[in-house]
Amino acid sequence: MRNQLYIDGRWQDPVEPGRIPVFDPYRGTVYHEVAAGGPADVEKAVAAAKAAFPEWRDAGGRERARYLAAIAEKLQDRAEELARLSSRNNGKPLGEARIDMADAAASFAYYAEQAITLQDRQDANVALPDEGFHARLRQEPAGVASLIVPWNFPLVTTSWKVAPALAAGCTVVLKPSEITPVVELELGAIAEEIGLPPGVLNIVTGTGERVGAPMTTHPDVAKVSFTGSNAVGARVMAAGAPGVKSVSLELGGKSPIVVFASADFDEAVECVLGGIFFNAGQMCSATSRLLVEKSIAPKLIDAIVAGSRALKPGDPLNEGTQIGPITMKAQHDKVLAYIERGKAEGLTLLTGGGKPAGLHGWFIEPTIFADVPTTSALWREEIFGPVLCIRIFETEKEAIALANDCDFGLVATVVSGDEAQANRVANAIEAGHVWINSPQAIFVQTSWGGFKTSGIGRELGPWGLSSYLEVKHVTSRLKR
Ligand code: NAD
Repeated sequence: MRNQLYIDGRWQDPVEPGRIPVFDPYRGTVYHEVAAGGPADVEKAVAAAKAAFPEWRDAGGRERARYLAAIAEKLQDRAEELARLSSRNNGKPLGEARIDMADAAASFAYYAEQAITLQDRQDANVALPDEGFHARLRQEPAGVASLIVPWNFPLVTTSWKVAPALAAGCTVVLKPSEITPVVELELGAIAEEIGLPPGVLNIVTGTGERVGAPMTTHPDVAKVSFTGSNAVGARVMAAGAPGVKSVSLELGGKSPIVVFASADFDEAVECVLGGIFFNAGQMCSATSRLLVEKSIAPKLIDAIVAGSRALKPGDPLNEGTQIGPITMKAQHDKVLAYIERGKAEGLTLLTGGGKPAGLHGWFIEPTIFADVPTTSALWREEIFGPVLCIRIFETEKEAIALANDCDFGLVATVVSGDEAQANRVANAIEAGHVWINSPQAIFVQTSWGGFKTSGIGRELGPWGLSSYLEVKHVTSRLKR
């Protein structure tokens, strides 16, 4: 396992010596240490990225695509080993970590194609209403990009940023979460193996304060792309403001899943359970608010309570494990505090609320509260753990109103046997992505990002690439 910083194509120790412990959440013990970078390392990384920028920009999309495709191939070749590294550090079941690695490889492969398309479309003519003029469109990389990511989907949130940034022609300084740096550092090893030019991708591990903050204010950084909490996202935006940096934010959610009486019952149960207990609920896209139509509510609630009790907790590296521990102690305590608050508010606790018997790590049982008032903190705030809140509705109009009565707007799921109704409701919900009768299937071709306080901008698809590009038109007056 790597434990140094990757700057300018070389593994190096931080300027000021320091280490950060890395925990195994299944055991609650430290099993590794990584470098605690600081402002001087950010300085070095930004300088390396700045020096590498002109050549990387001028290499063109086709040349950059070769590197991106090579990274995708390495990610695929090493998928099993990387999944194991991620599973141990994050605590997610191995099967889920495998899905993450496939997603990361798919992102690099997709943006390799996008880099080629970008080059092919460079200098496209713009139709003008005046024959005396000619205009062409260029899309040029913004410059050095600071990429800051959280701990819940290691290598996934990272690839969604690194791949489009490199495809666009930006050079990059990446800060993994200090909680889950292990698998992210392997991206540096892959960059080294495929011969990515030094300085194009730099990885600085460390805390938000000592590494993240200077990455958001550095005068040579043109673009900041951040995924994480709303509290830190707001700070990142404010920090970028004096330098008028382009800032993209992927923040939190409190997403609804709306189940109508016409739904395929088994499909509804699958969508509800997967939407909140995958990754132990530590998903920005967790559908943590269940809205269920009155006539099927008792039957559906019984089935999801039974289904949640049947989920097998255990060692994330064991094939049969279905729910792992919470990734870190502080998050574990935060989730338990919400559960205690729910109990103190007198909410109906249908199941869970404690720790599964016989396990020592940071486990929390799948927890379900019923009849949660819309004023409750449990209904309105992102808990980021395996806690589902339920409300019953009687009409489609009421369901839409409840779904949209929220400060966030990241995703939603609609489960209905009536196609017209499902599409009507999907169109009415204020969210960046809506699934119909589907688990949370994510394709790199479709966008990711939120309405309202869930963020600014979109990742994935061509929108993900645009976020690292400046638009330039060159208009010439033709000879008369
Ligand atoms: P966080 O905001 O605490 O940290 C995110 C990253 O920011 C970490 O790398 C952290 O070290 C860094 N950071 C902390 N302070 C900073 C500062 N002042 N300046 C710059 N960087 C700083 O979030 P987290 O706890 O790691 O992740 C959980 C949050 O992420 C949840 O709210 C979740 O919804 C959100 N999230 C959103 C998406 C999405 O796509 N919308 C995806 C995953 C997670």
